Amino acid sequence: MRIAIEPKPVTFEACHSLPKFCPSAHGHSYRVSVKIAGPVDHGIVADFQVVRRIVKAVVAKLDHRMLNDVIENPTAERVAVWIWNRIEDKIRRSHPECLLVGLRLVEGEHAVEVTP
Ligand SMILES: [Zn+2]
Repeated sequence: MRIAIEPKPVTFEACHSLPKFCPSAHGHSYRVSVKIAGPVDHGIVADFQVVRRIVKAVVAKLDHRMLNDVIENPTAERVAVWIWNRIEDKIRRSHPECLLVGLRLVEGEHAVEVTP
């Protein structure tokens, strides 16, 4: 049996411009939640705080940044995938028995969700 856990979301603030949809630079508040699934070991799947620290370290690269300087055409979908790719790698190394099974990025009042 695997159990999925979802630590408290991590927030960040950033701005972007989307040439095709909204070319003027503007800012958003973002919220990232991840879901990790794995077997229970000593009563837990993974320490919530350890997983959250991984998310925070990745998101710190985007906080208070112009997202276009980091990610090409930074739509919510592309930002979510960018975060997913970096978190998945770190989770795989720190928790080899666990899988990243979901990542939700809330951009203002909109949200996108990445699944494997
Ligand atoms: Zn926007």
